Amino acid sequence: MSLPPPIAAAVVALSLPGLAMAAPAPAPGPAPAAAEAFSLAPLPYAYEALEPVIDAQTMRIHHGKHHQAYVNNLNAAVKANPSLQGKSLEALMGEVQNHPPALRNNGGGHYNHTLFWKLMAPQGQGGAPSQALVAQIGKDFGSMEAFKEAFQAAGAQRFGSGWAWLVWTGDKLVVTSTPNQDNPLMGDAPVKGTPVIANDVWEHAYYLKYQNNRAGYLSGWWGVLNWNEANRLFETATRKGK
Ligand code: MN
Repeated sequence: MSLPPPIAAAVVALSLPGLAMAAPAPAPGPAPAAAEAFSLAPLPYAYEALEPVIDAQTMRIHHGKHHQAYVNNLNAAVKANPSLQGKSLEALMGEVQNHPPALRNNGGGHYNHTLFWKLMAPQGQGGAPSQALVAQIGKDFGSMEAFKEAFQAAGAQRFGSGWAWLVWTGDKLVVTSTPNQDNPLMGDAPVKGTPVIANDVWEHAYYLKYQNNRAGYLSGWWGVLNWNEANRLFETATRKGK
């Protein structure tokens, strides 16, 4: 049985590289893959920019491997479930309790780390807390020192992996902590609100330099806190609540 003419021509063309231009146009293949729903943004500074508080190797692995994995796994979870598609990351956080843990863990991982990178800046470049934030912290914690102690305690007392948070709950600032990649936007979060400050207390955030000394990491971390971003988050959160 002989091949129909177009295929025969294609076979000849493929077998003779010089005639490749003469091959018929290929049949349309499957539609190109849809763009991924979420992507990893570059860090807003160099990997070594937070030294000596956070070393370059930790930042490289944390951003390039851990955060990238959350993004990849989140995209896979969204691709597998049409009901998750076309929604913002914030909206997805509100419904994690209705889905398998892949959305909670990887969506939370992507949301939390995106926030975390912006909440840090090279030493001396993070600015200072705004008057409004200082006033609210004074009202809710008594003093900046008392707030920092409460925040460090929340991070130190979180067993295993998790996050320490300063959250605007609509009428006040609250310090809380969450396990794993949970966050205060999640539908089942014990303290719900808008994050103003967030610190990753999982060992992968500090182990190369601090080893088991999480308290040392927590106290050193204020040196790279980006108050300018915290001020902006607080301002946006309180404006939204009015
Ligand atoms: Mn992390």
